[in-house]
Amino acid sequence: MARDLVSVQLRAALKQPGCPICHLRSASELRYIHSLLWESVNDPLTRGYFIGSLGYCREHTWQMGLLENDRFGSPLGNSIMYEHLCRVVRQQLGAYAHRMGWARRPWWRRWLHLIWPWPVQRLAARELRPKARCRVCQIGDRAEQTHLRGLLQAVSGSDSELREWYAASDGLCLPHLRQGLNAADRNVEDGARFLVETALRQLGSLQHELSEFERKNAWDNRHEAKTEAENTAWLRALAFFGGMNGKVSE
Ligand SMILES: [Zn+2]
Ligand SMILES: [Zn+2]
Repeated sequence: MARDLVSVQLRAALKQPGCPICHLRSASELRYIHSLLWESVNDPLTRGYFIGSLGYCREHTWQMGLLENDRFGSPLGNSIMYEHLCRVVRQQLGAYAHRMGWARRPWWRRWLHLIWPWPVQRLAARELRPKARCRVCQIGDRAEQTHLRGLLQAVSGSDSELREWYAASDGLCLPHLRQGLNAADRNVEDGARFLVETALRQLGSLQHELSEFERKNAWDNRHEAKTEAENTAWLRALAFFGGMNGKVSE
């Protein structure tokens, strides 16, 4: 992705509440699902990914299903794709049942089984093993890595404006901060330091608001009004520690 585009997308994401990388990851996953439903339901490559992973992960399965039904008014694309998947999984389950000797076992095999102990077969169904991860998650991973790298480079270099935008935003969630720091090298050390210092400052405020909320809930202090920041601190804590939408790869 072009560096300018990464920078523009980062700025847009920094305007929103919550972690900018979580937003950008979700946006790229949503774009993929939307364009799939719009024009790629019958595209062989897209279908190959879908069949190879035996459908998508739980989150993206429901996202694609509900999105098509809500926005496109008909679940036709999902129906076409899952009809194909039904065929494939039926074949695989049939092959598994056959390997186990469950499918139409002839009468003489049953008798043979009694007089000749059959080797115990493991029940693990290797036929049902997906060949790849959910494609939508892979798209999200790539967007996440690209934008994290872009963010670290931007706050390491001369882009002081982006530093200001970042400092005014909610900053990275903890999983993305950890991921960014794990991927950082000496070239972006200034940026890594800036991200950590910002997180330390924001965590200090968050901790204070959480403790004030707790204190003002005590019976003795019930007359003290809680601020808006104190009332919503728990939501910011969830977003910081869990990430937005709860979906972050390590
Ligand atoms: Zn995040
Ligand atoms: Zn997924």
